[in-house]
Amino acid sequence: VLLLTWAAYGEADYVLYKDATKPVEDRVSDLLARMTLAEKIGQMTQIERQVASPQVLKDNFIGSLLSGGGSVPRKQATAAEWMSMVSDFQKACLSTRLGIPMIYGIDAVHGHNNVYGATIFPHNVALGATRDPNLVKRIGAATALEVRATGIQYAFAPCIAVCRDPRWGRCYESYSEDHRIVQAMTELISGLQGDVPPNFTSGMPYVAGKNKVAACAKHFVGDGGTQHGVNEDNTIIDRQGLMNIHMPAYLNALQKGVSTVMISYSSWNGMKMHANHDLITSFLKDRLNFKGFTISDWEGIDRITTPSGANYSYSVQASVLAGIDMIMVPNHYESFISILTSHVNGGIVPMSRIDDAVTRILRVKFTMGLFENPLPDSSLADQLGKQEHRDLAREAVRKSLVLLKNGKTSGKPLLPLSKKAPKILVAGSHADNLGYQCGGWTIEWQGDSGRTTVGTTILDAVKAAVDPATTVVYAENPDAAFVKNGGFSYAIVVVGELPYTETKGDSADLTIPEPGPSTVQSVCGAVPCATVLISGRPVVLQPFLGAMDALVAAWLPGTEGKGVTDVLFGDYNFTGKLPRTWFKSVDQLPMNYGDARYDPLFPLGFGLTY
Ligand code: BGC
Repeated sequence: VLLLTWAAYGEADYVLYKDATKPVEDRVSDLLARMTLAEKIGQMTQIERQVASPQVLKDNFIGSLLSGGGSVPRKQATAAEWMSMVSDFQKACLSTRLGIPMIYGIDAVHGHNNVYGATIFPHNVALGATRDPNLVKRIGAATALEVRATGIQYAFAPCIAVCRDPRWGRCYESYSEDHRIVQAMTELISGLQGDVPPNFTSGMPYVAGKNKVAACAKHFVGDGGTQHGVNEDNTIIDRQGLMNIHMPAYLNALQKGVSTVMISYSSWNGMKMHANHDLITSFLKDRLNFKGFTISDWEGIDRITTPSGANYSYSVQASVLAGIDMIMVPNHYESFISILTSHVNGGIVPMSRIDDAVTRILRVKFTMGLFENPLPDSSLADQLGKQEHRDLAREAVRKSLVLLKNGKTSGKPLLPLSKKAPKILVAGSHADNLGYQCGGWTIEWQGDSGRTTVGTTILDAVKAAVDPATTVVYAENPDAAFVKNGGFSYAIVVVGELPYTETKGDSADLTIPEPGPSTVQSVCGAVPCATVLISGRPVVLQPFLGAMDALVAAWLPGTEGKGVTDVLFGDYNFTGKLPRTWFKSVDQLPMNYGDARYDPLFPLGFGLTY
């Protein structure tokens, strides 16, 4: 009798979903069966940390938090402070009836870029120039560790857009105009999440454990194909074109176990992707067997405007029915939750759709071990900005530089530069500006100017590289007479685009702003000059290309300026190749490799060496 009672007691106490020895699918269905509608809808709700509090998470059973754009708690918060913030939120979730952990997402798109002191890697366009998927994988692994160093478990990366028009403000988030290069660079996912095991079923989510993070392939699909490169606009292309250009990298991402897919703000042939049941459900989930979760973009569902007069209630209905599983609401969560609840109660959204969404979210959470390791691991704090990661970023910078010109048509090559010249000039708005060097998505959503974080500018790197006897003069925008009379052996001029992110970066003319062009004219007219261009994309060069003795496309290299001088001074040769077509004039755009009328200044794949 005693034994029986004990056994019965033990059984009643046993909760299958908490048993880590059970298969993920069993744990998911056990937990799902215990959940109320409010708990299910909470899992589908992602809210911005700025509107969150532990009480809000508890009261609404919130499944996910994010820090969007440059939204961080305190600009210079340490890893330990981040961890304690994440931990307070997580403890609130764990204290609910079922104790389902939340997952915290952030835009770690070139390293853990919102966080002060993190290693900032070159933006994707630069990584495309390296043609080195293994390097990109190692960057993913380093980024995962830096993200975990703040207690966060989810990165909204990689962006696998195939940017077809450099006028798009997000062109630098795209590895290439060529889908094959983008496909190869999905290796970032293996770095972020870990390598999938042998015989892995494509489409299943996979995250190797607590030193890894869930990845997010974005933005599904056709984000890089909008007309005239207008952000969030309409991608007009037939189905075959969509499948041949914009879809292939998603297949690679699925083979690598990508856990989540973010839906694009853009439309395909006039229909908002956020309402596209055919591509999200019939194609991505049913046909390609994607079993992780889809997530909306920031207020992405709010922008569903058709049929005309569509309101938020319609947006919630259309997006959830289209197959979006988690909604990045992220602010007005109360109205989202109440509207979705009434849609379910009114039979507009079937419970089976809710169950499918929650199953996918829980599947990711169980797979990544979030129930076993919900809280930040303080032993990872020292991963943030560590030297090994900075060395890797430096390697990425030097492999991403593309040498476009070396020597005027008649003259001899200027590069590599001598470290022993008696006196040299470093000039240009971007020579000593870490914020400019990092571009958008760095500390601030739009990026910033100046010493916004820890790192080495190109000027710092030049000073460190040259002989101690060499005098390095720095002048941001010197006039020609100063340069001519300065007794300089040569000059390094660093100019380029100012930081921008998303729509703010859309540009119809693609010129680099003044005083950049004037600095090039006055310096290069007076002394042999190597121009280093900081930009997220090809820009108009025609007016001053002739004046330059050498030109290096350095893209948006990030915090490790020494990667630039490694190559300028010849310690390493150039290996970078253009990941995009360099146009002559903007009226040629869009112009991509393979086009019938292809008349570039420099073709895709171009890159000189010493
Ligand atoms: C961007 C996404 C990003 C999200 C969260 C959106 O504006 O389109 O790429 O992940 O914000 O910050």
